[in-house]
Amino acid sequence: MIYLKTDEEIELMRAANLLVGATLAEVAKHITPGVATLQLDKIAEEFIRDHGAIPLFKGYNGFPSSLCISVNEQVVHGIPGDYRLQNGDIVSVDCGTKINGFCGDSAYTFQVGEVDPKTKQLLETTKESLYHGIAMAVDGKRIGDIGNAIQTYCQERGYSVVRELVGHGIGREMHEAPEVPNYGKKGAGPLLKDGMCIAIEPMINMGTKNVVMEKDAWTIRTADRKPSAHFEHTVAIRKGKADILSSFELIEKVLNN
Ligand code: MG
Ligand code: MG
Repeated sequence: MIYLKTDEEIELMRAANLLVGATLAEVAKHITPGVATLQLDKIAEEFIRDHGAIPLFKGYNGFPSSLCISVNEQVVHGIPGDYRLQNGDIVSVDCGTKINGFCGDSAYTFQVGEVDPKTKQLLETTKESLYHGIAMAVDGKRIGDIGNAIQTYCQERGYSVVRELVGHGIGREMHEAPEVPNYGKKGAGPLLKDGMCIAIEPMINMGTKNVVMEKDAWTIRTADRKPSAHFEHTVAIRKGKADILSSFELIEKVLNN
């Protein structure tokens, strides 16, 4: 069942998603060689609670933290811990909040210090592919059009698309119908219509598309241990168009400072 949102509900979702962007920007200020990922998680949890919201991921199916922090070959769902970021790492930070009954969900992959040009290119392509997907999130298109746009863009540039994990509908719950794969066929899948809210989140690998789960039963990493990037926006389909509810603006203000 796909829940369509009213304009009022979409504005509540925007508030939750803008808080996610602000939280990621706060985290971005502290991403530097030597910082432990657990420290970033503490900063995020405090920031979210100080703004009257709940960290959406904490306790979700037993997940222990407020952020998912996934470094280098880790794709998603990494658990913050003692690992200290090193010069040249890339780090995907995924954040969710709930406030006034609605959820926000967004992710960004950061560079730590000086990252090699090949890996930088992976990040740029993954972020760019997200916007190609979003361009298809309009009334009358189908879920497959989103995945096809992301897959085509990334594969043409020599990267591969993770199959096991997908984007999702979002609203009062973090995960609602429909699933939003980052691959697919044009014109296939559920029809997109006004009021739908979806999280689009390409997970793109430098090498093989195959992934494995680590022993912690959460962390997903690439099978060949080559790097992976992850960018995510929550988007509403409204007045026929894609309305991006989350924002990278504050994050990129920090990064360009
Ligand atoms: Mg997410
Ligand atoms: Mg998500």
